[in-house]
Amino acid sequence: MFTSIAGRSVIVTGATRGIGAGIARVFAAAGARVLVVGRQAEAAEAVVEQIAHAGGTASAFLADVADSESAAAIAAAAIERHGGIDVLCANAGIYPEARLTEMSVADWDRVLDTNARGTFLCVQACVPAMRARGRGRVIITSSITGPITGYPGWSHYGASKAAQLGFMRTAAIELAPYGITVNAVLPGNIMTEGLAANGPEYAAQMAASIPQRRLGSVEDIAHAALFFATDEAAYITGQTLVIDGGQVLPESLAALDAAAEPFSA
Ligand code: NAP
Repeated sequence: MFTSIAGRSVIVTGATRGIGAGIARVFAAAGARVLVVGRQAEAAEAVVEQIAHAGGTASAFLADVADSESAAAIAAAAIERHGGIDVLCANAGIYPEARLTEMSVADWDRVLDTNARGTFLCVQACVPAMRARGRGRVIITSSITGPITGYPGWSHYGASKAAQLGFMRTAAIELAPYGITVNAVLPGNIMTEGLAANGPEYAAQMAASIPQRRLGSVEDIAHAALFFATDEAAYITGQTLVIDGGQVLPESLAALDAAAEPFSA
């Protein structure tokens, strides 16, 4: 068994729904005190209520991660409410679609600002409090899209998710002397409100391309994040963990078809 993280101060950005809400629920169920960060008050309060109903401890904080003052305010709120910061799950992200030929500079900037700049700002804001404790855990939600795969409509998104990993590797070196680790989870296709917005056809197509033939759950990602947050993961830093039901493995669709054929010995 892992050492308990009960009582630890955990910030989860983008926790008002989807993967972030799943991470917040799983960390709270493990006894952590969770700051649920997002921009939508009602959704944030709903996650906080869900956690409280299950016996956990959480409170909401409304902030835009792409704004430097807001990022500083997130860290300040965690320090004020929980006496410090042990874990930052930098999860907030957006994935609007735009083909390269139609993509505006504003489209590009919005995605990079939220996903890449937002990660940088939140990590930077949390470092002093983690340094003061002599330990800390940063867990970034990247993606298979960008670092490993591509998908039409998401060149800006892929760039932002790969940028998070470039950032992570140097941040991990710089923060290692302070006992702070920086790692990333790389989800495949996870059933969230955001993904559902791409339509049922997209979800069905994706499920068919995954060796396990199902989309992931938010808990699949949350448990991996929880592992990175444990004391036992102290010697792991600057690393990525793909959680995708095997989605990146087949070299062609034929590989999936072959796996579905009955095996004759
Ligand atoms: P989602 O359901 O759309 O939720 C996104 C979350 O991010 C919401 O809580 C949203 O809260 C928050 N958010 C967005 N922009 C923000 C901003 N500027 N400031 C603060 N919060 C912001 O998305 P999801 O599918 O759970 O994705 C979460 C993360 O996982 C993202 O980083 C995404 O790239 C990554 N990911 C998802 C999948 C997938 O299949 N779902 C796959 C790979 C990677 P508010 O609206 O309240 O601000």
